[in-house]
Amino acid sequence: MEKAIIVNIDFTDKKFRRSESDDLRDEIIELAKTSGVEIIENILCSRHEPTPSLLIGKGKAQEISFVVQDSGANVVIFDDNLSSTQQRNLEEILTAKTIDRTQLILDIFSKHAKSMEGKIQVELAQLEYLLPRLIGKGIVLSRLGGGIGTRGPGEQKLEVDRRRIQKRIAKLKKDLDDFSRHRENIRKRRKEKLIPCVSLVGYTNAGKTTLLNTLTDAKQAVRNSLFTTLDSLSRNLVLSNKQRVVLSDTVGFLSRLPHNLIEAFKATLEEVVESDLLIHVLDISDDKFYEHNKAVYDVLSELKIENKPIITVLNKIDKLEDKSWLQRIKKDFPNCVEISALEKEGIKQLLGKIEEKLSSLLLIVDLAIPINRMDLVDMIYKEGEVFSINYTSEHVEIQANLPVISANRLASFCK
Ligand code: GDP
Ligand code: MG
Repeated sequence: MEKAIIVNIDFTDKKFRRSESDDLRDEIIELAKTSGVEIIENILCSRHEPTPSLLIGKGKAQEISFVVQDSGANVVIFDDNLSSTQQRNLEEILTAKTIDRTQLILDIFSKHAKSMEGKIQVELAQLEYLLPRLIGKGIVLSRLGGGIGTRGPGEQKLEVDRRRIQKRIAKLKKDLDDFSRHRENIRKRRKEKLIPCVSLVGYTNAGKTTLLNTLTDAKQAVRNSLFTTLDSLSRNLVLSNKQRVVLSDTVGFLSRLPHNLIEAFKATLEEVVESDLLIHVLDISDDKFYEHNKAVYDVLSELKIENKPIITVLNKIDKLEDKSWLQRIKKDFPNCVEISALEKEGIKQLLGKIEEKLSSLLLIVDLAIPINRMDLVDMIYKEGEVFSINYTSEHVEIQANLPVISANRLASFCK
């Protein structure tokens, strides 16, 4: 197991200081543990502003290098993003592999990507991260001795020249495009059948996968570590009103997810962007859950979908000793459902809420109703809003805005 030193920097200058809610110092520790290193030191330093050459001051860097030597650490992890120059200079002084936040996240992604698409996305993001660092002097390749921060593309691939990396990037992008088109087709087919899509979103470890399992009996590995799911996974679910929905699990959201990674992982989140309803799972037993809530909304607004219909689920109520706490939280989350995904508490109420939300959703449908089914035409007028109507000798062609549930009943008359 690699031994890691974690460096957290507190910039006192307003311009560089992290906002209160971004200040999830434990997150980097969880991330590092998830990547499989042993943390032997956690160094906190305070600085007015970053330096272009080292991020931290020279004296501090020297100090850390002594800790490296004393402790026998083989990797130093910075909870910030480092420029290629900073990384190179730090490695020289620290005499240990030095990686930043983005690299750590990529490392975890690469270990957990399961589907072909997920693997391609990770490799692409890793190569795009490495490319500017390979130009000129870049990272001293001989020092990348494998392990954390170098997993994924693999050492020998890092040794290929820049041109070959660029070629590979182009190919991966094309592959992703093809995948994206494939997904598009699947989605279209689903839309044609008028099956609404519901996505589980939420901070890592909130209990999304557990809830998916509880709701659908899906057998997907549930592990108490960040990022067990990188790829979205979809299941069918039939509600008590016979309404079918497709329920999808998604990758955990992080605070300060590096912007370039959001772009790279958009395809993974496409499912979320396209869904009709979001279920936001919050772990209320975690005392950082307000921060987690904000982190999730930051990602949602990054994807421009923060205004989609959403159900907030307060999960892990079985872990709460003080129930009055729950009453207080509920005031901040109007329209929420409290559950325990693990103990299967509150699931009925949640399903009821999903039904309720979906029934208020409207879909635009193009229908061809047989001329002998004027009862259905009456129903469409009663339950929805008709945009256009056209009589032919065999059909009544109608374009209308209909509640999902009514649209579902008319699925076989879809044009
Ligand atoms: P995800 O990252 O959001 O998919 O979270 P998981 O579903 O993998 O759950 C993370 C951890 O929380 C696992 O150890 C679960 O067993 C645990 N967990 C999930 N839901 C509950 C719950 O309602 N109560 C308790 N006590 N633990 C839960
Ligand atoms: Mg999960």
